[in-house]
Amino acid sequence: MPDADNDTIAAIASAPGPAGVGVVRVSGPQVPAIAQLLLGGRRPTPRHAHLTAFRGGDGELIDRGLLLHFPAPHSYTGEHVLELQGHGSAVLLDLLLRRVCALGARLARPGEFTERAFLNGKLDLAQAEAVADLIAARSEAGARAALRSLDGAFSRRVHALQEALVALRVHVEAAIDFPEEEIDFLADPAIARQLETLRTQLAGLLAEARRGVRLTDGLKVAIVGRPNVGKSSLLNALAQSDRAIVTPIAGTTRDVLRETVSLDGVVLELVDTAGLRETQDTVEREGVRRARGELAGADLALLVTDASGAEADLALLADLPDTVARLVLVNKIDLDAVAPHAATREGLRWLWASARTGEGLEALRTELKQRAGAGSGEGAFSARRRHVLALQSVQEHLDHAARVLAASRAGELAAEDLRQAQHALGQITGSYTSDDLLGAIFGSFCIGK
Ligand code: GDP
Repeated sequence: MPDADNDTIAAIASAPGPAGVGVVRVSGPQVPAIAQLLLGGRRPTPRHAHLTAFRGGDGELIDRGLLLHFPAPHSYTGEHVLELQGHGSAVLLDLLLRRVCALGARLARPGEFTERAFLNGKLDLAQAEAVADLIAARSEAGARAALRSLDGAFSRRVHALQEALVALRVHVEAAIDFPEEEIDFLADPAIARQLETLRTQLAGLLAEARRGVRLTDGLKVAIVGRPNVGKSSLLNALAQSDRAIVTPIAGTTRDVLRETVSLDGVVLELVDTAGLRETQDTVEREGVRRARGELAGADLALLVTDASGAEADLALLADLPDTVARLVLVNKIDLDAVAPHAATREGLRWLWASARTGEGLEALRTELKQRAGAGSGEGAFSARRRHVLALQSVQEHLDHAARVLAASRAGELAAEDLRQAQHALGQITGSYTSDDLLGAIFGSFCIGK
C-alpha cells in the first residue's frame, strides 16, 4: 500500500498521436523530488519548461523532452504536478512512466487526477463531470456546452438556488423555534413569496439541465408505429445508410435498431423500435417488450403513421411518461400526392413527409434539431441525467413544502422538505456525496484525466 501522505500518481495523459508529442503527468507530494532526480539534481523552476534528457535508473537515455513543474496548490489537481513531454511514442512514454513509478509514483486509476482536483476543491462535482463530457463530446454544441459547465455556468446556478434555499430555511426554522408564534411566522406572505420564487427558478434550471443532457447525450428519439408504416425507411433516410433492413413484410424490424446522427452540430440517438402490436411470435414479443422500454426512456417519441391509420395510431402514444415529448409523422405522402406540410393538433405537432422521396424530411430534421437543443444559443451548459434526477427531487420537495405550508402551516414538515431539497441540490455539486457515487463518476473517466 502506498503511504497515503506521500501517495503520488502518474499516467500517460495524452495519447501519442500524429503530432508527435506525448505527456506523462504526475501528481502528488513526491513530485518535487522526482522532478529534481529527473533533472540530474537541479531543482525545477516553477512553471518553466526545462529541456532535458530523461534517463532510466541505469543512466541510459529514455527520451529528450520538456519537464514542467506546477507547484501546489496552483495546479490542476491542487497538488504538486509534473508534466513530462516526450516524443509521442507509446514505447518511450511507457518507459518514462515506468521510470517515474520507480522514483516513487504509482499508476493512476481512471479519473484520479480529476478526482484529486475535486477533493482539493479545484472543481466541484458537476465541473469534474464536465471534464469527462468535454473529452467525450460528439458534437460541437456538446463540446461548447461541456466547456461552459467546466467553467462553472451550471454550478453557479445551483449555488444561487442553494443560497436562496438556505435563506428560506432560516425563516422557516426560526418559526419552529418560537412555537407560540409559529403560525403567524409561517403565515407571513414573504415566506410563500420566497418559496414561489425558488420554485420558479428551479423550474427554469430544470428545463435548462434537461437541454444540457440532450446536448451531452444527444436527443433520444424512439421511432414508433405499426409494422410497415415506414419506420426503418425513415431511420435510413435520416441516417442516410442501409443499417436498418427494409422489407415489405410486416414485422421484420424485430429488434431495436439504433443510429447516431449528427445534424449540424447536434447529436440524435435514433432508435427504431419493433412494431408495437400484440403477437404470438416469441422473438417479436421480446422486441415489443424492448420497444416499450426504449419508449419510456426516450426524450421524444416519434410516431410514424400513414394517411389511413393516423388517428387510430395515436393510441400508441398513450401511457407515456410526461418526460417523453411526442411528434407525429404522417409518412408515404407520395402515395396520395399530398404536399409536405405541418400542423399542430391538440398540442401535438404533426408533419407530413415521405421517407421514400425525401419530401418533408428537411422540416423533420429542423424540428428534431430544435428539440435536441440546436441554436439554444449562448449560455447553454452540459448536464447529466443524474443532475436532472436531483433537480426533480428538489422540485418534489419544494412542491410538497408549498402544499404543507398552504394547507396546515406545519412548519416542521416544511422544514424537513426544505432540508431534503438542499441535500438533493448538494448532490449535484458534490457537497453531499457518497463514496459509491464518486467511484461511479470517476471510474468512468479515462486514465490520465
Ligand atoms: P417499418 O415496418 O415501419 O419499419 O416499415 P419499412 O420501413 O420496412 O417500410 C415498409 C414498406 O413501406 C417498404 O416497402 C417501404 O419501401 C415502404 N415505404 C416506406 N416509406 C415509404 C414512403 O414514404 N412512400 C412509399 N410509397 N412507400 C414507403
